[in-house]
Amino acid sequence: MRALCWQGDRLAVAEVPDPELRNGHDAIVRVRRSAACGTDLHLIDGGGLAPGDVLGHEFLGEVVEVGPRVRRHRVGDRVVVASVVACGRCRYCRQGRHSCCDNGSVDPVAGELAWGQAPAGCYGHPSADGGFPGSHAEYVRVPYADVGAFTVPDGVPDERAVFASDAAPAGWTGVDVGGVRPGDVVAVWGAGAVGQLVARAAVLRGAARVVVIDRYDERLRMVERHTGAETVHYHRADVTAELRERSGGRGPDVCVEAAGAVDGSRSLAERLRRAPRTPLALREAVHACRKGGTVVVLGDVTGFVDTFPVGAVVQKELTVRGARPHGPRHIPELLDRMARDELRTEHLATHRFPLAEGAAGYALFRERADGCVRVVFTPG
Ligand SMILES: [Zn+2]
Ligand SMILES: [Zn+2]
Repeated sequence: MRALCWQGDRLAVAEVPDPELRNGHDAIVRVRRSAACGTDLHLIDGGGLAPGDVLGHEFLGEVVEVGPRVRRHRVGDRVVVASVVACGRCRYCRQGRHSCCDNGSVDPVAGELAWGQAPAGCYGHPSADGGFPGSHAEYVRVPYADVGAFTVPDGVPDERAVFASDAAPAGWTGVDVGGVRPGDVVAVWGAGAVGQLVARAAVLRGAARVVVIDRYDERLRMVERHTGAETVHYHRADVTAELRERSGGRGPDVCVEAAGAVDGSRSLAERLRRAPRTPLALREAVHACRKGGTVVVLGDVTGFVDTFPVGAVVQKELTVRGARPHGPRHIPELLDRMARDELRTEHLATHRFPLAEGAAGYALFRERADGCVRVVFTPG
Protein backbone atom coordinates (compact mmCIF):
# COMPACT_ATOMS: atom_id res chain seq x y z
CA MET A 1 0.00 0.00 0.00
CA ARG A 2 1.01 3.64 -0.21
CA ALA A 3 1.69 5.78 2.86
CA LEU A 4 3.11 9.19 3.70
CA CYS A 5 6.47 8.32 5.27
CA TRP A 6 9.32 10.17 6.90
CA GLN A 7 12.35 9.81 4.63
CA GLY A 8 15.00 11.06 7.06
CA ASP A 9 14.89 14.63 5.79
CA ARG A 10 11.41 15.07 4.28
CA LEU A 11 7.98 13.52 3.88
CA ALA A 12 7.14 11.52 0.77
CA VAL A 13 4.61 8.94 -0.33
CA ALA A 14 6.19 5.49 -0.54
CA GLU A 15 5.18 1.87 -0.94
CA VAL A 16 5.08 0.03 2.43
CA PRO A 17 3.86 -3.46 3.41
CA ASP A 18 0.09 -3.86 3.89
CA PRO A 19 -0.90 -4.16 7.57
CA GLU A 20 -2.06 -7.60 8.72
CA LEU A 21 -4.13 -8.91 11.61
CA ARG A 22 -1.72 -9.88 14.39
CA ASN A 23 -4.14 -10.49 17.22
CA GLY A 24 -7.75 -11.65 17.52
CA HIS A 25 -8.80 -8.20 18.74
CA ASP A 26 -7.37 -6.37 15.69
CA ALA A 27 -9.23 -4.89 12.76
CA ILE A 28 -7.91 -3.52 9.48
CA VAL A 29 -9.41 -0.19 8.44
CA ARG A 30 -9.27 1.31 4.95
CA VAL A 31 -8.66 5.02 5.57
CA ARG A 32 -11.18 7.50 4.13
CA ARG A 33 -9.98 10.64 5.95
CA SER A 34 -6.78 11.34 7.91
CA ALA A 35 -6.12 14.79 9.39
CA ALA A 36 -2.78 16.48 10.06
CA CYS A 37 -2.45 17.57 13.71
CA GLY A 38 0.00 20.08 15.23
CA THR A 39 1.65 17.18 17.02
CA ASP A 40 2.79 15.85 13.64
CA LEU A 41 4.81 19.02 13.05
CA HIS A 42 6.41 18.64 16.47
CA LEU A 43 7.32 15.06 15.59
CA ILE A 44 8.88 16.17 12.31
CA ASP A 45 10.80 19.02 13.97
CA GLY A 46 11.78 17.08 17.08
CA GLY A 47 14.08 14.62 15.37
CA GLY A 48 12.47 11.53 16.89
CA LEU A 49 11.12 9.99 13.67
CA ALA A 50 12.94 7.15 11.94
CA PRO A 51 13.03 6.72 8.16
CA GLY A 52 9.92 4.79 7.10
CA ASP A 53 7.76 6.02 10.01
CA VAL A 54 4.19 6.73 8.88
CA LEU A 55 2.58 9.84 10.42
CA GLY A 56 -1.08 10.49 11.22
CA HIS A 57 -3.27 9.71 14.26
CA GLU A 58 -6.64 11.36 13.55
CA PHE A 59 -8.63 9.20 11.15
CA LEU A 60 -11.83 7.62 9.94
CA GLY A 61 -12.36 4.73 7.56
CA GLU A 62 -14.10 1.52 6.69
CA VAL A 63 -13.52 -1.83 8.36
CA VAL A 64 -12.23 -4.31 5.77
CA GLU A 65 -11.09 -7.17 8.04
CA VAL A 66 -11.74 -8.19 11.65
CA GLY A 67 -9.98 -10.63 13.97
CA PRO A 68 -11.98 -13.54 15.43
CA ARG A 69 -12.35 -11.85 18.86
CA VAL A 70 -13.75 -8.54 17.59
CA ARG A 71 -17.39 -8.32 18.73
CA ARG A 72 -18.59 -4.78 18.02
CA HIS A 73 -17.52 -4.41 14.39
CA ARG A 74 -17.90 -6.14 11.10
CA VAL A 75 -16.61 -5.63 7.60
CA GLY A 76 -18.18 -2.56 6.01
CA ASP A 77 -18.64 -0.52 9.22
CA ARG A 78 -17.73 3.16 8.86
CA VAL A 79 -15.66 3.89 11.97
CA VAL A 80 -13.80 6.73 13.62
CA VAL A 81 -10.77 5.52 15.59
CA ALA A 82 -9.45 7.06 18.82
CA SER A 83 -5.91 8.44 18.37
CA VAL A 84 -4.66 6.70 21.52
CA VAL A 85 -4.33 2.92 21.60
CA ALA A 86 -5.81 1.52 24.82
CA CYS A 87 -6.68 -1.99 26.01
CA GLY A 88 -10.03 -1.21 27.65
CA ARG A 89 -9.36 -3.58 30.57
CA CYS A 90 -6.53 -2.25 32.76
CA ARG A 91 -7.00 -0.16 35.90
CA TYR A 92 -6.72 3.13 33.98
CA CYS A 93 -8.98 2.13 31.10
CA ARG A 94 -11.65 1.01 33.58
CA GLN A 95 -11.49 4.52 35.08
CA GLY A 96 -11.99 6.03 31.61
CA ARG A 97 -8.41 7.32 31.55
CA HIS A 98 -7.50 5.58 28.31
CA SER A 99 -4.44 7.67 27.48
CA CYS A 100 -2.87 6.32 30.69
CA CYS A 101 -3.44 2.69 29.57
CA ASP A 102 -0.92 0.19 30.95
CA ASN A 103 -1.05 -2.05 27.87
CA GLY A 104 -1.27 0.29 24.89
CA SER A 105 2.41 1.06 24.31
CA VAL A 106 4.72 -0.81 21.95
CA ASP A 107 7.81 0.41 23.84
CA PRO A 108 6.98 0.88 27.54
CA VAL A 109 10.67 0.92 28.53
CA ALA A 110 11.27 4.11 26.56
CA GLY A 111 8.21 5.67 28.18
CA GLU A 112 9.41 4.66 31.63
CA LEU A 113 12.85 6.16 30.99
CA ALA A 114 11.36 9.42 29.80
CA TRP A 115 8.47 9.87 32.22
CA GLY A 116 8.69 7.25 34.97
CA GLN A 117 5.70 5.28 33.64
CA ALA A 118 4.62 4.53 30.08
CA PRO A 119 1.34 6.05 28.88
CA ALA A 120 -0.89 4.56 26.16
CA GLY A 121 0.38 4.30 22.62
CA CYS A 122 -0.74 6.47 19.75
CA TYR A 123 -0.92 6.00 15.99
CA GLY A 124 1.78 7.70 13.95
CA HIS A 125 4.16 8.28 16.84
CA PRO A 126 7.73 7.05 17.31
CA SER A 127 8.22 3.99 19.46
CA ALA A 128 9.35 6.10 22.45
CA ASP A 129 5.80 7.40 22.55
CA GLY A 130 4.30 3.93 22.23
CA GLY A 131 3.84 4.42 18.52
CA PHE A 132 1.89 2.38 16.01
CA PRO A 133 2.08 3.01 12.24
CA GLY A 134 0.05 6.10 11.37
CA SER A 135 -3.07 6.81 9.37
CA HIS A 136 -1.61 8.83 6.49
CA ALA A 137 -1.86 5.55 4.58
CA GLU A 138 -4.33 3.46 2.64
CA TYR A 139 -4.84 0.96 5.50
CA VAL A 140 -4.24 0.90 9.26
CA ARG A 141 -4.12 -1.97 11.73
CA VAL A 142 -6.38 -1.07 14.67
CA PRO A 143 -5.46 -3.02 17.84
CA TYR A 144 -8.22 -3.49 20.47
CA ALA A 145 -10.75 -2.59 17.77
CA ASP A 146 -13.71 -3.02 20.14
CA VAL A 147 -12.19 -0.35 22.42
CA GLY A 148 -10.83 2.24 19.98
CA ALA A 149 -13.11 2.10 16.91
CA PHE A 150 -16.64 3.54 16.94
CA THR A 151 -19.31 3.20 14.26
CA VAL A 152 -20.26 6.62 12.88
CA PRO A 153 -24.02 7.26 12.77
CA ASP A 154 -25.50 7.62 9.28
CA GLY A 155 -25.93 11.26 8.44
CA VAL A 156 -22.73 12.42 10.16
CA PRO A 157 -20.36 13.27 7.30
CA ASP A 158 -16.75 12.08 7.24
CA GLU A 159 -15.44 15.66 7.49
CA ARG A 160 -17.27 16.11 10.78
CA ALA A 161 -16.74 12.69 12.33
CA VAL A 162 -12.98 12.54 11.69
CA PHE A 163 -12.42 15.11 14.47
CA ALA A 164 -14.04 12.77 17.01
CA SER A 165 -10.75 10.85 16.77
CA ASP A 166 -8.34 13.31 18.41
CA ALA A 167 -9.14 17.05 18.46
CA ALA A 168 -12.62 16.77 20.00
CA PRO A 169 -11.61 14.21 22.67
CA ALA A 170 -8.71 16.57 23.52
CA GLY A 171 -11.21 19.39 24.06
CA TRP A 172 -13.53 17.21 26.15
CA THR A 173 -10.61 15.86 28.19
CA GLY A 174 -9.43 19.42 28.82
CA VAL A 175 -12.71 20.55 30.40
CA ASP A 176 -12.97 17.25 32.27
CA VAL A 177 -9.58 17.46 33.97
CA GLY A 178 -10.10 21.20 34.44
CA GLY A 179 -13.27 20.39 36.38
CA VAL A 180 -15.27 23.03 34.47
CA ARG A 181 -18.63 23.61 36.19
CA PRO A 182 -21.76 25.55 35.20
CA GLY A 183 -21.20 29.27 35.76
CA ASP A 184 -17.39 29.10 35.44
CA VAL A 185 -15.30 31.51 33.42
CA VAL A 186 -12.92 29.53 31.21
CA ALA A 187 -9.97 30.94 29.25
CA VAL A 188 -8.36 28.97 26.41
CA TRP A 189 -4.98 29.81 24.88
CA GLY A 190 -4.93 28.79 21.20
CA ALA A 191 -7.73 28.88 18.60
CA GLY A 192 -6.60 25.86 16.59
CA ALA A 193 -8.77 22.77 16.34
CA VAL A 194 -8.12 21.69 19.94
CA GLY A 195 -8.61 25.18 21.40
CA GLN A 196 -11.91 25.59 19.52
CA LEU A 197 -13.12 22.23 20.81
CA VAL A 198 -12.12 23.01 24.40
CA ALA A 199 -14.22 26.15 24.01
CA ARG A 200 -17.18 24.22 22.58
CA ALA A 201 -16.98 21.62 25.35
CA ALA A 202 -16.88 24.35 28.02
CA VAL A 203 -19.91 26.10 26.47
CA LEU A 204 -21.85 22.81 26.38
CA ARG A 205 -20.89 22.17 30.02
CA GLY A 206 -22.61 25.42 30.99
CA ALA A 207 -19.64 27.74 31.50
CA ALA A 208 -20.88 31.31 31.95
CA ARG A 209 -18.15 32.80 29.75
CA VAL A 210 -15.50 31.18 27.60
CA VAL A 211 -12.70 33.34 26.18
CA VAL A 212 -10.29 32.10 23.50
CA ILE A 213 -6.95 33.85 22.97
CA ASP A 214 -5.02 33.79 19.68
CA ARG A 215 -3.51 36.10 17.06
CA TYR A 216 -5.01 34.66 13.86
CA ASP A 217 -8.12 36.58 12.82
CA GLU A 218 -9.60 33.73 10.75
CA ARG A 219 -9.36 31.36 13.70
CA LEU A 220 -10.88 33.89 16.09
CA ARG A 221 -13.77 34.40 13.67
CA MET A 222 -14.32 30.61 13.62
CA VAL A 223 -14.44 30.61 17.43
CA GLU A 224 -17.12 33.28 17.40
CA ARG A 225 -19.14 31.59 14.66
CA HIS A 226 -18.96 27.96 15.77
CA THR A 227 -18.31 27.63 19.51
CA GLY A 228 -20.34 30.24 21.37
CA ALA A 229 -17.16 31.59 22.99
CA GLU A 230 -15.68 35.12 22.99
CA THR A 231 -12.21 36.04 21.76
CA VAL A 232 -9.15 38.14 22.60
CA HIS A 233 -6.50 38.99 20.00
CA TYR A 234 -3.30 38.96 22.03
CA HIS A 235 -1.53 41.57 19.94
CA ARG A 236 -4.39 44.00 20.38
CA ALA A 237 -5.16 43.62 24.07
CA ASP A 238 -3.52 43.10 27.46
CA VAL A 239 -4.63 39.50 27.92
CA THR A 240 -4.42 39.34 31.72
CA ALA A 241 -6.26 42.65 32.18
CA GLU A 242 -8.89 41.63 29.64
CA LEU A 243 -9.50 38.30 31.36
CA ARG A 244 -9.75 39.94 34.77
CA GLU A 245 -12.29 42.37 33.33
CA ARG A 246 -14.38 39.55 31.89
CA SER A 247 -14.37 37.50 35.10
CA GLY A 248 -15.67 40.03 37.60
CA GLY A 249 -12.15 41.06 38.62
CA ARG A 250 -11.17 37.57 39.84
CA GLY A 251 -9.48 35.92 36.87
CA PRO A 252 -10.79 32.83 35.06
CA ASP A 253 -11.71 29.76 37.13
CA VAL A 254 -10.13 27.38 34.60
CA CYS A 255 -7.27 28.26 32.21
CA VAL A 256 -6.46 25.82 29.41
CA GLU A 257 -3.23 25.95 27.45
CA ALA A 258 -4.06 24.57 23.98
CA ALA A 259 -1.51 26.57 22.03
CA GLY A 260 0.65 23.62 21.07
CA ALA A 261 4.06 22.35 22.01
CA VAL A 262 6.37 24.23 24.27
CA ASP A 263 9.12 21.77 23.42
CA GLY A 264 9.61 20.01 20.13
CA SER A 265 12.07 17.35 21.21
CA ARG A 266 10.89 13.80 20.81
CA SER A 267 13.67 11.28 21.27
CA LEU A 268 14.89 10.80 24.82
CA ALA A 269 18.46 11.75 23.87
CA GLU A 270 17.15 14.84 22.15
CA ARG A 271 15.07 15.79 25.19
CA LEU A 272 18.00 15.52 27.54
CA ARG A 273 20.34 17.42 25.23
CA ARG A 274 18.17 20.35 24.29
CA ALA A 275 17.93 23.49 26.34
CA PRO A 276 14.54 23.72 28.04
CA ARG A 277 12.13 26.20 26.49
CA THR A 278 10.10 28.95 28.06
CA PRO A 279 6.38 28.15 28.05
CA LEU A 280 4.94 31.60 27.34
CA ALA A 281 1.26 30.70 26.97
CA LEU A 282 1.42 28.46 30.04
CA ARG A 283 3.05 31.21 32.08
CA GLU A 284 0.37 33.64 31.04
CA ALA A 285 -2.32 31.08 31.98
CA VAL A 286 -0.80 30.61 35.46
CA HIS A 287 -0.55 34.37 35.89
CA ALA A 288 -4.14 35.05 34.78
CA CYS A 289 -5.82 32.21 36.69
CA ARG A 290 -7.88 33.13 39.75
CA LYS A 291 -6.73 32.08 43.23
CA GLY A 292 -7.69 28.47 43.81
CA GLY A 293 -8.28 27.93 40.08
CA THR A 294 -7.11 25.19 37.74
CA VAL A 295 -4.59 25.36 34.90
CA VAL A 296 -4.71 22.59 32.29
CA VAL A 297 -1.81 21.84 29.94
CA LEU A 298 -3.21 20.29 26.75
CA GLY A 299 -0.29 21.27 24.52
CA ASP A 300 1.78 18.37 23.27
CA VAL A 301 4.57 18.60 25.86
CA THR A 302 7.00 15.70 26.12
CA GLY A 303 10.12 17.17 27.69
CA PHE A 304 11.14 19.95 29.98
CA VAL A 305 10.32 23.61 30.24
CA ASP A 306 12.22 26.31 32.06
CA THR A 307 10.98 29.28 34.09
CA PHE A 308 7.73 27.62 35.11
CA PRO A 309 6.13 29.99 37.68
CA VAL A 310 5.81 27.53 40.55
CA GLY A 311 5.65 30.47 42.96
CA ALA A 312 2.26 31.48 41.57
CA VAL A 313 1.06 27.88 41.94
CA VAL A 314 1.91 27.93 45.64
CA GLN A 315 0.86 31.48 46.46
CA LYS A 316 -2.46 31.26 44.60
CA GLU A 317 -3.26 27.63 45.55
CA LEU A 318 -3.52 26.59 41.91
CA THR A 319 -4.15 23.11 40.61
CA VAL A 320 -2.05 22.28 37.53
CA ARG A 321 -3.11 19.31 35.43
CA GLY A 322 -2.08 17.85 32.10
CA ALA A 323 -3.62 15.21 29.88
CA ARG A 324 -3.72 13.57 26.49
CA PRO A 325 -7.12 12.85 24.95
CA HIS A 326 -9.07 9.96 26.49
CA GLY A 327 -10.66 9.15 23.13
CA PRO A 328 -12.72 6.04 23.95
CA ARG A 329 -14.22 7.78 27.00
CA HIS A 330 -15.62 10.67 24.99
CA ILE A 331 -16.24 9.43 21.42
CA PRO A 332 -19.76 8.03 22.02
CA GLU A 333 -20.93 11.39 23.41
CA LEU A 334 -19.15 13.27 20.62
CA LEU A 335 -20.78 11.21 17.85
CA ASP A 336 -24.13 11.64 19.55
CA ARG A 337 -23.75 15.42 19.68
CA MET A 338 -22.50 15.45 16.08
CA ALA A 339 -25.58 13.51 14.98
CA ARG A 340 -27.81 16.03 16.81
CA ASP A 341 -25.92 18.94 15.19
CA GLU A 342 -24.80 20.29 18.58
CA LEU A 343 -21.18 19.75 17.63
CA ARG A 344 -20.10 20.87 14.18
CA THR A 345 -16.45 20.43 13.29
CA GLU A 346 -16.29 20.28 9.49
CA HIS A 347 -15.15 23.93 9.30
CA LEU A 348 -11.85 22.82 10.88
CA ALA A 349 -11.03 20.86 7.71
CA THR A 350 -10.00 24.01 5.88
CA HIS A 351 -7.92 22.17 3.26
CA ARG A 352 -8.18 18.80 1.55
CA PHE A 353 -5.39 17.01 -0.28
CA PRO A 354 -5.03 13.60 -1.88
CA LEU A 355 -2.53 11.53 0.10
CA ALA A 356 -0.21 11.61 -2.93
CA GLU A 357 0.24 15.35 -2.28
CA GLY A 358 0.82 14.87 1.42
CA ALA A 359 4.13 16.77 1.53
CA ALA A 360 2.49 19.83 -0.06
CA GLY A 361 -0.36 19.56 2.44
CA TYR A 362 2.09 19.61 5.33
CA ALA A 363 3.94 22.60 3.85
CA LEU A 364 0.70 24.59 3.81
CA PHE A 365 -0.27 23.36 7.31
CA ARG A 366 3.12 24.35 8.71
CA GLU A 367 2.86 27.90 7.38
CA ARG A 368 -0.78 28.19 8.50
CA ALA A 369 -1.14 29.70 5.04
CA ASP A 370 -4.50 30.58 3.55
CA GLY A 371 -6.31 30.39 6.90
CA CYS A 372 -5.32 26.75 7.36
CA VAL A 373 -6.51 25.05 10.56
CA ARG A 374 -6.38 21.35 9.63
CA VAL A 375 -5.43 19.60 6.40
CA VAL A 376 -7.36 16.41 5.71
CA PHE A 377 -5.91 13.75 3.42
CA THR A 378 -7.89 11.34 1.29
CA PRO A 379 -6.03 8.23 0.16
CA GLY A 380 -6.66 6.79 -3.30
ZN1 LIG B 1 -3.23 15.10 17.62
ZN1 LIG C 1 -5.75 -0.18 29.35
